[in-house]
Parts: sequence; structure tokens; C-alpha cells
Amino acid sequence: MIPYGKQDISDEDVEAVVSALRSELITQGDLVPAFERGLCEYTGAAHAVVANSATSCLHLACLAMGFGPGDILWCSPITFVASTNCALYCGADVDFVDVDPLTANIDAGALTEKLRLAKAARRLPRALMVVHMAGSPCDLEQISAILAPYNIPIIEDASHAVGARYQNEPVGGCRYSAITVFSFHPVKIITTAEGGAALTNDPVLAREMALYRSHGITRDEAMMAGPSDGTWYYQQLRLGFNYRMTELHAALGISQMKRLDTFVDRRNALAKRYDDRFAATAITPVRPVPSSKSAYHLYLVLLNEEISMTEKRRVFDAMRDQGIGVNIHYIPVHTQPWYRDLGFDEYEYPGALSYYRRTLSLPMFPGLDSQQQDAVIDALVTSLGE
Ligand SMILES: *Cc1c(COP(=O)(O)O)cnc(C)c1O
Repeated sequence: MIPYGKQDISDEDVEAVVSALRSELITQGDLVPAFERGLCEYTGAAHAVVANSATSCLHLACLAMGFGPGDILWCSPITFVASTNCALYCGADVDFVDVDPLTANIDAGALTEKLRLAKAARRLPRALMVVHMAGSPCDLEQISAILAPYNIPIIEDASHAVGARYQNEPVGGCRYSAITVFSFHPVKIITTAEGGAALTNDPVLAREMALYRSHGITRDEAMMAGPSDGTWYYQQLRLGFNYRMTELHAALGISQMKRLDTFVDRRNALAKRYDDRFAATAITPVRPVPSSKSAYHLYLVLLNEEISMTEKRRVFDAMRDQGIGVNIHYIPVHTQPWYRDLGFDEYEYPGALSYYRRTLSLPMFPGLDSQQQDAVIDALVTSLGE
């Protein structure tokens, strides 16, 4: 089976992890801060807080922003459930803004309209989570202009977009957002096996996320209530978690960062090859917005506009039968039973439903060779009877 995504681990990566494993401290050593500095250098963000997953980072972001009962997080329904679960963990509510099926990213018109209605109903969100689907940045300048009159901050779920660029700057620099979150799960652009990072330019958000990451405990006397009892002393200031990343995972992250740009360039070359081959067919690639460079975590195509779910299933199964690991990203979050039980109507958000009916993720990872890619293209074209 040609998988839809796969990590690329070099001998150097293995050496880095082994050497971390043989060192004195295998957690809470120097490698985690070094990885954080590397992420700041790469993205231009002032602060980075790495954790044991992007899911943890999304939770840390909501905690640091003060999400609680009565608050609402808005997000697009075409994402992984972790993008919205993070607000539910805080006792807050979630609501959705429809996507543009052609980009799979949040739709500016739907956002404008929903803000108008929410303002009238006094139900404005505390923050908007944007998801850079497949690694293609949302149009952040446009979205932040729409949000500006309401003073609503943006959180970027850039789990797919490590190494992507928007307006010629790296995603993660937080020019338009309060916090940007990266995932280092093995199918993503670079990996730490499990892991994530939250980037911000706001020192208070950075401090809060670091506190919540480690039990809400500090050893910094400046932050303590009252004087310290001595050098052994620490204080718990928040109800935090253990979301720390280990030194082994950070070692892998530091090593993988060296090849980040190579990975993204390779993914872009593969995407271009798919694009060229699909140009003369009814297969529509989901394209990045102008003035951006996608990290191409996924290569998404839309099948013809009228395709039924039954027909899509047939194409999907035919591809799998031929050893092609196609996938679907994502089942709209609001249709999940957990969310339906919260009151969401599964027939809401027509853009998301149309996208879901038409989308297919094709294999995309740096190690995919031309022969395998040709097999994917031929299998898809044949299955569709093109
Ligand atoms: C992978 C992913 C996450 C969660 O990342 P983990 O590191 O696995 O916790 C969150 N949001 C999106 C959009 C993702 O693709």
C-alpha cells in the first residue's frame, strides 16, 4: 500500500535521538529549550512553547487566552476534531464558520455574515481558530481585516503548515494571530513522533502556556505569591497539566528541522507534478491562495461537482484495492456524534458538506517516487473513467 503520508527519518535523526537517550537528562534538559529557540529563529516568533502534542498546544492556547464557561471558539468544520475539542476542555462552547469548498479554508463571506448575526445576538466569539488546510495558509490579511472591528484574536491551527509561507513570511511568525500551533505527528511535515509547538509574540501568553504545560508550577520567585522558602521551593499558581515534551522528542525535532525546507520543496514539486497531470481532466486540485506557499501536508483533489457519496465510495475503494492509500480529510466536525449531541445540525454548512462529498487526499510525502506517483494518477484517472 502506498500510504497517504509517511515520515522521513535519516541516520542523523536516529543518532540525535540515541545521543539524547544516553545523556544525563532525558526530560527537562537543554534540548527542549534549544528546539524552541530553533522554532523562533525559523518562524520569527518571539516565543515558542513545545509540548507532547499539537492537541496539548491547542489546549494550552485556549487556557492562556482565558477560555472558560460562556466563551465561544469559532472554527471551520473542515478540520481534525482537536481544533475545537480544545475549547470544550475549558468548558467553553464551539461554533463553526463554513469553508470555501475550493480552498477547504474558512470562507470570508460566511465569516462576515456570521459576525454580523453574532453581534446582534451578543454571542461574539472569544477567538477564531483558522486552520491552514493541507498546509495552505488561509488569507490571514483578509480575515484579520474582517475581525478588526470586533477586536477578535486569531489562533492559527498550523498543524499542516510547518514550513509554509504567507506574504513571503514563514507561517508561525504570528503577524496576524495571537498564537500559532504546529503539529509534529509523523504524517505532518516534520516529526518528533508525537509533539507540537505553540508560537506567540505575546510574553504573557507564552508565560501562561509554559505554566499550564507543567502543572501550573513555577520556580520563578518574581511570579510567586509571597517570598520563597529557599532554593528547593516552587509554587503552583494554576491548575496545569503535564504536557511536557521529552528530550528524546526534542532531539528528533531539532534534527528534522534541518531538512524542513527540503521536505517542503519536495512536496511542492510533487504537487506541481500532480497539478500538471490533472490539468486536462475533471479532477480539481485544491489550490493555495496567491501570495502563499503551501507546505503540502496533504494533496487534496475535488472530484466532479455532481459526484454522489456512493460514487465517491466506489472510487475510494477501487483506489484502496489497487494499493493506493487514499484518505479523506476531514469528516466535518459538526457531523460527529459528540458534536451533534451538543446540538449541531448535520445538514448545516453547505460548503463543508459539498467539500466532504467531493474531496480525496492522494499520497503525498517526500519519499514518494515518480513511479508511485504515476501509479496513483493512473489509478485515479481509470477509476473515474476519465
Ligand atoms: C494533526 C492535527 C492536530 C493534532 O495534532 P497532534 O500533534 O496529533 O495532537 C490538530 N489539528 C489539525 C488540523 C491536525 O491535522
